[in-house]
Amino acid sequence: MRQRERFEGPSDLHLHSLRSDGTEPPEVVVQAAHRHGLRTIALTDHDTTAGWGEAAQAAASLGVTLLPGMELSAAHEWRSVHLLAYLFDPEHAGLRAEMDRVRGDRVGRAERIVRNIARDYDLSWSDVVAQTSDDATVGRPHIADALVARGFAVDRSAAFAGILHPREGYYESHYAPDPFAAVRLIVDAGGVPIIAHPATAGRDRMLPEPVLEELIRLGLAGFEIDHRENTATGKRALRRIAAAKDLIVTGSSDYHGRGKPNVPGENTTTDQMVARIIERGSGVAPVRP
Ligand code: AMP
Ligand code: FE
Ligand code: FE
Ligand code: ZN
Repeated sequence: MRQRERFEGPSDLHLHSLRSDGTEPPEVVVQAAHRHGLRTIALTDHDTTAGWGEAAQAAASLGVTLLPGMELSAAHEWRSVHLLAYLFDPEHAGLRAEMDRVRGDRVGRAERIVRNIARDYDLSWSDVVAQTSDDATVGRPHIADALVARGFAVDRSAAFAGILHPREGYYESHYAPDPFAAVRLIVDAGGVPIIAHPATAGRDRMLPEPVLEELIRLGLAGFEIDHRENTATGKRALRRIAAAKDLIVTGSSDYHGRGKPNVPGENTTTDQMVARIIERGSGVAPVRP
Protein backbone atom coordinates (compact mmCIF):
# COMPACT_ATOMS: atom_id res chain seq x y z
CA MET A 1 0.00 0.00 0.00
CA ARG A 2 1.13 3.49 -0.74
CA GLN A 3 2.52 5.44 2.15
CA ARG A 4 0.33 8.24 3.40
CA GLU A 5 1.62 11.56 2.05
CA ARG A 6 3.18 13.95 4.53
CA PHE A 7 1.39 17.02 3.31
CA GLU A 8 -2.26 17.76 3.84
CA GLY A 9 -4.66 20.25 2.47
CA PRO A 10 -6.52 22.41 2.15
CA SER A 11 -4.31 23.45 -0.76
CA ASP A 12 -4.52 26.57 -2.93
CA LEU A 13 -1.89 26.63 -5.66
CA HIS A 14 -2.46 30.02 -7.31
CA LEU A 15 -1.70 33.19 -5.33
CA HIS A 16 -0.15 36.54 -6.35
CA SER A 17 1.99 39.01 -4.42
CA LEU A 18 3.24 42.49 -5.31
CA ARG A 19 6.17 40.90 -7.13
CA SER A 20 3.57 40.93 -9.91
CA ASP A 21 0.02 42.27 -9.69
CA GLY A 22 -1.05 41.23 -6.20
CA THR A 23 -1.22 44.01 -3.61
CA GLU A 24 0.66 42.41 -0.70
CA PRO A 25 4.26 41.33 -0.07
CA PRO A 26 4.83 37.57 -0.35
CA GLU A 27 4.93 37.06 3.43
CA VAL A 28 1.56 38.79 3.83
CA VAL A 29 0.09 36.57 1.12
CA VAL A 30 1.34 33.50 3.01
CA GLN A 31 -0.15 34.90 6.24
CA ALA A 32 -3.50 35.50 4.50
CA ALA A 33 -3.50 31.94 3.15
CA HIS A 34 -2.65 30.56 6.59
CA ARG A 35 -5.42 32.64 8.19
CA HIS A 36 -7.87 31.13 5.70
CA GLY A 37 -6.90 27.66 6.89
CA LEU A 38 -4.66 26.63 4.01
CA ARG A 39 -1.85 24.15 4.72
CA THR A 40 -0.28 23.94 1.24
CA ILE A 41 0.07 26.88 -1.13
CA ALA A 42 1.92 28.05 -4.22
CA LEU A 43 3.08 31.58 -4.95
CA THR A 44 2.52 32.07 -8.69
CA ASP A 45 3.45 35.60 -9.62
CA HIS A 46 3.33 36.46 -13.31
CA ASP A 47 6.61 35.77 -15.14
CA THR A 48 8.83 36.00 -12.05
CA THR A 49 10.30 34.02 -9.18
CA ALA A 50 11.26 37.15 -7.21
CA GLY A 51 8.91 36.35 -4.32
CA TRP A 52 10.07 32.78 -3.68
CA GLY A 53 12.57 33.56 -0.91
CA GLU A 54 10.27 35.72 1.18
CA ALA A 55 7.35 33.31 0.69
CA ALA A 56 9.51 30.34 1.74
CA GLN A 57 10.58 32.07 4.96
CA ALA A 58 7.02 32.97 5.87
CA ALA A 59 5.73 29.50 4.99
CA ALA A 60 8.39 27.81 7.11
CA SER A 61 7.62 29.98 10.12
CA LEU A 62 3.86 29.40 9.84
CA GLY A 63 4.03 25.64 9.20
CA VAL A 64 2.69 25.95 5.66
CA THR A 65 4.02 23.85 2.75
CA LEU A 66 5.05 26.03 -0.21
CA LEU A 67 5.29 24.95 -3.84
CA PRO A 68 7.44 27.57 -5.59
CA GLY A 69 5.57 28.53 -8.74
CA MET A 70 4.90 31.08 -11.44
CA GLU A 71 2.18 32.03 -13.91
CA LEU A 72 3.95 32.32 -17.26
CA SER A 73 2.35 34.47 -19.95
CA ALA A 74 1.93 32.78 -23.32
CA ALA A 75 -0.15 33.57 -26.39
CA HIS A 76 -1.77 31.45 -29.06
CA GLU A 77 -2.97 33.59 -31.98
CA TRP A 78 -5.30 36.16 -30.33
CA ARG A 79 -5.67 34.13 -27.16
CA SER A 80 -3.78 34.93 -24.01
CA VAL A 81 -2.74 31.66 -22.30
CA HIS A 82 -1.53 31.60 -18.70
CA LEU A 83 0.62 28.63 -17.73
CA LEU A 84 1.00 27.82 -14.07
CA ALA A 85 4.43 26.27 -13.56
CA TYR A 86 5.38 24.47 -10.37
CA LEU A 87 8.69 23.25 -8.94
CA PHE A 88 10.85 24.29 -11.91
CA ASP A 89 14.52 25.21 -11.66
CA PRO A 90 14.56 29.02 -11.33
CA GLU A 91 18.08 29.12 -12.85
CA HIS A 92 17.16 27.28 -16.06
CA ALA A 93 18.76 29.53 -18.70
CA GLY A 94 16.18 29.08 -21.45
CA LEU A 95 13.19 29.64 -19.21
CA ARG A 96 14.91 32.54 -17.45
CA ALA A 97 15.61 34.22 -20.81
CA GLU A 98 11.98 33.90 -21.84
CA MET A 99 10.73 35.27 -18.50
CA ASP A 100 13.12 38.23 -18.81
CA ARG A 101 11.97 38.89 -22.36
CA VAL A 102 8.29 38.88 -21.35
CA ARG A 103 8.94 41.07 -18.32
CA GLY A 104 11.00 43.53 -20.35
CA ASP A 105 8.43 43.80 -23.12
CA ARG A 106 5.64 44.30 -20.57
CA VAL A 107 7.24 47.63 -19.58
CA GLY A 108 7.23 49.11 -23.09
CA ARG A 109 3.73 47.78 -23.63
CA ALA A 110 2.43 49.38 -20.43
CA GLU A 111 4.06 52.67 -21.52
CA ARG A 112 2.26 52.41 -24.88
CA ILE A 113 -1.07 51.79 -23.15
CA VAL A 114 -0.49 54.80 -20.89
CA ARG A 115 0.43 56.94 -23.90
CA ASN A 116 -2.82 55.88 -25.58
CA ILE A 117 -4.87 56.66 -22.49
CA ALA A 118 -3.09 60.01 -22.04
CA ARG A 119 -4.66 61.20 -25.31
CA ASP A 120 -7.96 61.41 -23.42
CA TYR A 121 -7.16 61.34 -19.68
CA ASP A 122 -4.68 63.10 -17.43
CA LEU A 123 -2.49 60.08 -16.75
CA SER A 124 1.28 59.77 -16.98
CA TRP A 125 3.85 57.01 -16.76
CA SER A 126 5.00 58.27 -13.36
CA ASP A 127 1.48 57.61 -12.02
CA VAL A 128 1.94 53.96 -12.95
CA VAL A 129 5.48 53.78 -11.58
CA ALA A 130 4.10 55.10 -8.28
CA GLN A 131 1.74 52.08 -8.13
CA THR A 132 4.37 49.47 -9.01
CA SER A 133 6.73 48.07 -6.40
CA ASP A 134 10.40 47.57 -7.22
CA ASP A 135 11.07 44.44 -9.18
CA ALA A 136 7.39 43.77 -9.95
CA THR A 137 6.22 42.33 -13.27
CA VAL A 138 4.31 45.30 -14.71
CA GLY A 139 0.77 44.71 -15.88
CA ARG A 140 -2.51 46.39 -16.60
CA PRO A 141 -3.48 46.11 -12.91
CA HIS A 142 -0.81 48.72 -12.12
CA ILE A 143 -2.31 51.02 -14.75
CA ALA A 144 -5.71 50.30 -13.18
CA ASP A 145 -4.34 51.36 -9.78
CA ALA A 146 -3.00 54.58 -11.33
CA LEU A 147 -6.43 55.28 -12.87
CA VAL A 148 -8.00 54.72 -9.44
CA ALA A 149 -5.48 57.05 -7.80
CA ARG A 150 -6.34 59.70 -10.43
CA GLY A 151 -10.07 59.25 -9.78
CA PHE A 152 -10.92 57.79 -13.21
CA ALA A 153 -12.16 54.48 -11.74
CA VAL A 154 -13.37 53.38 -8.30
CA ASP A 155 -11.39 50.15 -8.23
CA ARG A 156 -9.40 47.74 -10.43
CA SER A 157 -12.49 45.89 -11.61
CA ALA A 158 -14.10 49.15 -12.73
CA ALA A 159 -10.92 50.19 -14.54
CA PHE A 160 -10.84 46.85 -16.39
CA ALA A 161 -14.53 47.13 -17.28
CA GLY A 162 -14.00 50.72 -18.45
CA ILE A 163 -10.86 52.47 -19.70
CA LEU A 164 -8.73 49.29 -19.84
CA HIS A 165 -11.30 47.31 -21.80
CA PRO A 166 -9.98 46.62 -25.34
CA ARG A 167 -13.16 48.13 -26.80
CA GLU A 168 -11.99 51.56 -25.57
CA GLY A 169 -9.11 51.36 -28.04
CA TYR A 170 -6.15 51.89 -25.70
CA TYR A 171 -5.15 48.24 -25.42
CA GLU A 172 -1.73 46.99 -26.54
CA SER A 173 -0.38 43.46 -26.30
CA HIS A 174 3.06 42.35 -25.12
CA TYR A 175 5.47 39.70 -26.31
CA ALA A 176 4.67 36.22 -25.04
CA PRO A 177 5.94 32.82 -26.20
CA ASP A 178 3.49 30.43 -27.82
CA PRO A 179 2.20 27.80 -25.38
CA PHE A 180 4.13 25.00 -27.14
CA ALA A 181 7.46 26.70 -26.47
CA ALA A 182 6.33 27.64 -22.97
CA VAL A 183 5.34 24.06 -22.04
CA ARG A 184 8.62 22.71 -23.47
CA LEU A 185 10.68 25.18 -21.45
CA ILE A 186 8.82 24.52 -18.19
CA VAL A 187 9.19 20.76 -18.63
CA ASP A 188 12.85 21.13 -19.56
CA ALA A 189 13.35 23.13 -16.35
CA GLY A 190 11.89 20.23 -14.35
CA GLY A 191 8.60 22.05 -13.80
CA VAL A 192 4.97 20.98 -13.94
CA PRO A 193 2.91 23.05 -16.42
CA ILE A 194 -0.82 23.44 -15.81
CA ILE A 195 -3.05 25.79 -17.79
CA ALA A 196 -4.48 28.50 -15.53
CA HIS A 197 -8.20 29.29 -15.88
CA PRO A 198 -8.33 27.51 -19.27
CA ALA A 199 -11.99 28.23 -19.99
CA THR A 200 -12.79 31.84 -19.24
CA ALA A 201 -14.74 34.09 -21.56
CA GLY A 202 -12.95 36.68 -23.68
CA ARG A 203 -9.28 36.87 -24.58
CA ASP A 204 -8.34 33.66 -22.82
CA ARG A 205 -11.18 31.52 -24.14
CA MET A 206 -10.49 27.77 -24.24
CA LEU A 207 -7.84 26.57 -26.70
CA PRO A 208 -9.08 24.28 -29.48
CA GLU A 209 -8.88 20.60 -28.51
CA PRO A 210 -6.20 19.69 -31.10
CA VAL A 211 -3.99 22.41 -29.57
CA LEU A 212 -4.61 21.02 -26.06
CA GLU A 213 -3.74 17.55 -27.32
CA GLU A 214 -0.47 18.76 -28.79
CA LEU A 215 0.36 20.53 -25.50
CA ILE A 216 -0.38 17.33 -23.57
CA ARG A 217 1.96 15.48 -25.92
CA LEU A 218 4.65 18.05 -25.12
CA GLY A 219 4.22 17.55 -21.37
CA LEU A 220 1.30 19.70 -20.26
CA ALA A 221 0.35 18.16 -16.91
CA GLY A 222 -3.17 19.41 -16.37
CA PHE A 223 -5.82 22.07 -16.04
CA GLU A 224 -6.89 24.47 -13.31
CA ILE A 225 -10.58 23.64 -13.49
CA ASP A 226 -12.03 25.02 -10.25
CA HIS A 227 -11.42 28.72 -10.83
CA ARG A 228 -14.15 31.34 -10.53
CA GLU A 229 -13.64 32.55 -14.10
CA ASN A 230 -14.01 29.20 -15.90
CA THR A 231 -17.40 28.81 -17.55
CA ALA A 232 -19.64 25.83 -16.63
CA THR A 233 -19.52 24.52 -20.20
CA GLY A 234 -15.76 24.90 -20.30
CA LYS A 235 -15.34 23.03 -17.00
CA ARG A 236 -17.35 20.09 -18.33
CA ALA A 237 -15.20 19.89 -21.46
CA LEU A 238 -12.00 20.15 -19.41
CA ARG A 239 -13.12 17.40 -17.01
CA ARG A 240 -13.87 15.13 -19.95
CA ILE A 241 -10.42 15.70 -21.50
CA ALA A 242 -8.65 15.42 -18.13
CA ALA A 243 -10.34 12.08 -17.41
CA ALA A 244 -9.58 10.72 -20.89
CA LYS A 245 -5.89 11.72 -20.69
CA ASP A 246 -5.39 11.10 -16.96
CA LEU A 247 -4.36 14.72 -16.34
CA ILE A 248 -3.87 16.60 -13.09
CA VAL A 249 -6.79 18.89 -12.22
CA THR A 250 -6.53 21.72 -9.70
CA GLY A 251 -8.70 24.31 -8.02
CA SER A 252 -7.47 27.65 -6.76
CA SER A 253 -8.34 31.19 -5.83
CA ASP A 254 -6.02 33.32 -8.00
CA TYR A 255 -5.76 35.63 -4.98
CA HIS A 256 -4.49 39.16 -5.79
CA GLY A 257 -4.85 40.79 -2.36
CA ARG A 258 -7.12 43.83 -2.61
CA GLY A 259 -6.78 43.74 -6.41
CA LYS A 260 -9.58 41.21 -6.90
CA PRO A 261 -12.47 39.88 -4.79
CA ASN A 262 -10.92 36.35 -4.92
CA VAL A 263 -10.34 34.90 -1.42
CA PRO A 264 -7.58 32.38 -0.51
CA GLY A 265 -9.05 28.88 -0.41
CA GLU A 266 -12.23 29.74 -2.33
CA ASN A 267 -11.27 26.77 -4.52
CA THR A 268 -8.84 24.06 -3.49
CA THR A 269 -6.79 21.19 -4.93
CA THR A 270 -7.05 17.65 -3.55
CA ASP A 271 -4.15 15.99 -1.71
CA GLN A 272 -3.99 13.39 -4.45
CA MET A 273 -3.45 16.03 -7.13
CA VAL A 274 -0.92 17.90 -4.99
CA ALA A 275 0.95 14.61 -4.60
CA ARG A 276 1.01 14.12 -8.36
CA ILE A 277 2.42 17.62 -8.90
CA ILE A 278 5.14 17.04 -6.29
CA GLU A 279 5.99 13.64 -7.78
CA ARG A 280 6.33 15.14 -11.23
CA GLY A 281 8.32 18.28 -10.35
CA SER A 282 12.10 17.94 -10.34
CA GLY A 283 13.53 21.46 -10.68
CA VAL A 284 13.25 22.45 -7.03
CA ALA A 285 11.81 20.80 -3.92
CA PRO A 286 8.68 21.97 -2.12
CA VAL A 287 9.41 24.01 1.00
CA ARG A 288 8.25 21.87 3.94
CA PRO A 289 7.71 23.27 7.42
P1 AMP B 1 -1.88 41.92 -18.23
O1 AMP B 1 -1.19 40.63 -17.99
O2 AMP B 1 -0.99 43.09 -18.01
O3 AMP B 1 -2.57 41.97 -19.56
O4 AMP B 1 -3.02 42.04 -17.13
C1 AMP B 1 -3.81 40.92 -16.87
C2 AMP B 1 -4.00 40.80 -15.38
O5 AMP B 1 -4.99 41.71 -14.99
C3 AMP B 1 -4.49 39.44 -14.94
O6 AMP B 1 -3.42 38.68 -14.47
C4 AMP B 1 -5.43 39.72 -13.82
O7 AMP B 1 -4.79 39.52 -12.58
C5 AMP B 1 -5.75 41.18 -13.92
N1 AMP B 1 -7.17 41.41 -14.21
C6 AMP B 1 -7.83 41.06 -15.34
N2 AMP B 1 -9.12 41.43 -15.26
C7 AMP B 1 -9.27 42.01 -14.04
C8 AMP B 1 -10.38 42.59 -13.36
N3 AMP B 1 -11.58 42.68 -13.93
N4 AMP B 1 -10.17 43.09 -12.12
C9 AMP B 1 -8.95 43.02 -11.54
N5 AMP B 1 -7.88 42.49 -12.14
C10 AMP B 1 -8.03 41.99 -13.38
FE1 FE C 1 -2.84 38.74 -12.35
FE1 FE D 1 -4.04 34.39 -15.06
ZN1 ZN E 1 -3.21 34.47 -11.74
